[in-house]
Amino acid sequence: MRQIYLDYSATTPVKDEVLQEMLPYFTERFGNPSSLYTVGQESKTAISTARERLAALIGADPKEIFFTSSGTEADNWAVIETARLKRDKGKGNHIITTKIEHHALLHSGEALEKEGFDVTYLGVDAEGFVRLSELEAAIRPETTLISIMFANNEIGTIEPIAQIAEIAKKHGVVFHTDAVQALGNIDIDVHALGVDLMSMSGHKIYGPKGIGALYIRKGVALPAHLYGGAQENNKRAGTENLTGIVGFGKAAALAKANLRNHIQKVSDLRNYFLEQIQENIEDIRINGNFEHRLPGNLNITFKYIEGEALLLLLDMDGIAVSTGSACSSASLTPSHVLDAIGVPVEEIHGSIRFTVGDFTTKEDIDYVVEKLKAAVIKLRRISSVSKESGW
Ligand code: PLP
Repeated sequence: MRQIYLDYSATTPVKDEVLQEMLPYFTERFGNPSSLYTVGQESKTAISTARERLAALIGADPKEIFFTSSGTEADNWAVIETARLKRDKGKGNHIITTKIEHHALLHSGEALEKEGFDVTYLGVDAEGFVRLSELEAAIRPETTLISIMFANNEIGTIEPIAQIAEIAKKHGVVFHTDAVQALGNIDIDVHALGVDLMSMSGHKIYGPKGIGALYIRKGVALPAHLYGGAQENNKRAGTENLTGIVGFGKAAALAKANLRNHIQKVSDLRNYFLEQIQENIEDIRINGNFEHRLPGNLNITFKYIEGEALLLLLDMDGIAVSTGSACSSASLTPSHVLDAIGVPVEEIHGSIRFTVGDFTTKEDIDYVVEKLKAAVIKLRRISSVSKESGW
């Protein structure tokens, strides 16, 4: 059966060039980067190259890149350790984030609340944007950190990061952004944007899973959160994930070289997909702003049906899509992001996130639209909630 993957925001396949670059580091070039003999030093050099490549993708200095085990770890580290450091220095115990963050951030916020921190979760407008006036109004003398995601993983909305950084700077507050979804999909220049801390992940940019990074702007203090060896300039202990780092570095280099083409190709396909859906299926709604949006993202409510049933029917046709956030797709709790933009709960349950990527073709889209149309008709026919029943 044909297999079509339309969930590139959940994860991406490792590109062959990335895999080829990684392979020798599993076998003949396996040395511990901390070892002083040649095979160890070769590993160290490979890590430096990867650091340079990732830095180049975001306009950073390589010294500002710290590898972690994941985007989740980068988020936890940035937010929890900044909050604790500032509190310990007597600067305050208030941090600001949003209601539409990934759980890596929301649950870090909850953990901080248990430690006695005060956390403001800002709402967003109907298109998913943080309101800058609301952000500024929420800042208090005891606010130490603002953490707002670069681009949302469910609806793809890209936040006004430069303006947020400016507000944070004006008030002397550290600014962290979770750029896990933005990396490789948007042109990012951390210095021009003025962000202090930024989280990234390898498996969203055609690199391997289990590798992430935190950008820490030069001069921003952030204590280590793991204790052990002197790796990552004494900031993140633990023998480096050599193959993961090499793969992440190669994926970053490819992302930089292909960024323009990638954005064009993926957004053209996404737009074509939307046109086809609009032509073939009625009673749909697009969630999130369309203009300032990740190039591959399409989040659509299909009224009068259950998204999970649609997901399963599509899966039977070999099509992989997602309802809400991938990380919470095992549960049926309605998406907190769609809730935050005001989608009624019954419509949240009928919402699907499609994300197209570098390996998607126009033929894939045509096939998906045909199967999608048939599945929606079928489900609406058997649905207990229908237009006629006044739902
Ligand atoms: N932040 C965002 C916005 C994400 O979309 C994800 C993954 O879905 C993460 C953080 C977590 O990244 P990782 O899977 O590398 O832990």
